[in-house]
Amino acid sequence: MNAVPALSEADLTDIERARILAKTARFAPPPARTADGRTELVGLSRAELAAELAAIGEKPFRAKQLWHWIYHQGATDFSRMSTIAKPMQAKLAEHFVVGRPEAAITQTSTDDTRKWLFRFRDGQEAETVYIPDRTEDRGAVCISSQVGCTLSCKFCHTGTQGLARNLGAAEIVGQFMAARDSYGEWPSPHGETPRLLSTIVLMGMGEPLYNYENVAKAMTIIMDNEGIALSRRRITLSTSGVVPMMDRAGAELGVNLAVSLHAVRDDLRDEIVPLNRKYPIAELMAACRRYPAASNARRITFEYVMLKGINDSEAEAHELVRLIAGMPAKVNLIPFNPWPGSPYETSTQGAIDRFSKIVMDAGFSSPVRTPRGRDILAACGQLKTESRRERAAR
Ligand code: SAH
Ligand code: SF4
Repeated sequence: MNAVPALSEADLTDIERARILAKTARFAPPPARTADGRTELVGLSRAELAAELAAIGEKPFRAKQLWHWIYHQGATDFSRMSTIAKPMQAKLAEHFVVGRPEAAITQTSTDDTRKWLFRFRDGQEAETVYIPDRTEDRGAVCISSQVGCTLSCKFCHTGTQGLARNLGAAEIVGQFMAARDSYGEWPSPHGETPRLLSTIVLMGMGEPLYNYENVAKAMTIIMDNEGIALSRRRITLSTSGVVPMMDRAGAELGVNLAVSLHAVRDDLRDEIVPLNRKYPIAELMAACRRYPAASNARRITFEYVMLKGINDSEAEAHELVRLIAGMPAKVNLIPFNPWPGSPYETSTQGAIDRFSKIVMDAGFSSPVRTPRGRDILAACGQLKTESRRERAAR
């Protein structure tokens, strides 16, 4: 009998990646189309846009023209696209739409943080948050990648919701575009011109690396130089540690990486970030060390939620320093943000200060993330919508 050749580490990673992508497909968004059959142009790659135009007998240069109107000018109405002749505008409007998710609710916090509840064409909902810088005219847009989340980190409100479905590229890009609409920030500012919506953090609802293809497509559109043109240095993807997809994101997107560490021992991380049972700390750290975009100029951010009496001791701070030793890294300490029924308390200021000092003394920047928008449940880990999987199935 022939011996079965052993599978190498790389084969196993490929198998694991294929498994993750197959599962992602089970939660796929509905086709991006209106009820009357018009195709959504937002969220198409350049090649797909050209193919849609070819299908109605249009030449490739139209794709370039439309790209400019959609992503540079922010136009949603074909009749505003003044470089396109009127009959052509009408033809485009017959077949296509340039849409935005509907803002079902918009709330603004006493600290100016703004939160939108966006409703998509099938009625599913997700939240997006804009966090303005308090001293300069810039700020971060916190974008959701899924309606809910399959993971159930103990401290996270989104985690109590389950996963309704993945968001499509149109819906991911659409969150940013709708946020821009709301601040009148079109056309896209060029180069380093100050802009209010200056960075994107994929830190809203959902695990972006469990919806990799749609997230990657959306970020590629946002980074495109002839449109929104946000540099990959201004985009940060946060993951709870989907190790097999981290390499791919690093190679293909090169955006900044944030890793939700939250515990320095496997027994505790198994409990509060259950994904750790699949990809334990040692594997996660190895993936971080391989992450190609990491350098001294672009450090990996380790997020660490401060839970009173759970993970906030001085011994744990020392262990954290040991784990990240030699990496271009910084540690973002996030005071736990409570939500209705949450099982934890925020660490005391003293505990947070002691923890931060130990990390800082070891040579790592260790800022404490100021909670923003808590009054409107817009702070880290507070996002949640009523959307359920059943509703998607109806
Ligand atoms: N799913 C991704 C990204 C979204 S969460 C991830 O987990 O990384 C963005 C950050 O907020 C993560 O670090 C997450 O662990 C943290 N977070 C979740 N719930 C929180 C809470 N209640 N208080 C403070 N931070 C929280
Ligand atoms: Fe999902 Fe991130 Fe919340 Fe964990 S912290 S449940 S991965 S959204």
